[in-house]
Amino acid sequence: MQNECIFCKIATKQIPVEPIYEDEQVIAFPDINPAAPVHVLLIPKMHIDHLLAVKPQDSAILARLSAAIPKIAAKLGLTDDGFRVVINTKKNGGQTVHHLHYHILGGRSMNWPPG
Ligand code: AMP
Ligand code: ZN
Repeated sequence: MQNECIFCKIATKQIPVEPIYEDEQVIAFPDINPAAPVHVLLIPKMHIDHLLAVKPQDSAILARLSAAIPKIAAKLGLTDDGFRVVINTKKNGGQTVHHLHYHILGGRSMNWPPG
C-alpha cells in the first residue's frame, strides 16, 4: 500500500468500485473514463509502480494477472470478437497512474498503430 496511490485505495476498498473480477491478489474494475464500450482496469492489489518495477520474486503476480484476463473477457462477452490489452509504461507509454494496471478494451474495433 502506497499512500496517496489511487489504485492502492481501490485495492484496499478505501475507494469503492464494482469489481468485475477479484481474487486475493488482483482486482478488475471499470475505467472511470472509458476509451471504448468496454474498458476495464486490471491491477495487482500490491503496489508495483509499473512493468519495469516487477521484481523476480513478484513475477507470479504477472501470471495471476494473465490468468484473470480470459475470465474477465468471458464475463464481459469479449471472447467472440476479441479485445485489446494495453499496459502504458512510464512517460512515453502515457502512464498517468503509477500503479501497474492492464487496460482491457473491447466492444469495437481498435486502431493500429495506436496513437
Ligand atoms: P494510464 O493513463 O495508463 O495510467 O491509465 C490510468 C487510467 O485510470 C485512466 O484510463 C483513467 O481513466 C483511470 N482511472 C483513474 N482514476 C480512476 C478511478 N478512480 N476509477 C477508475 N479508473 C480510474
Ligand atoms: Zn498503488
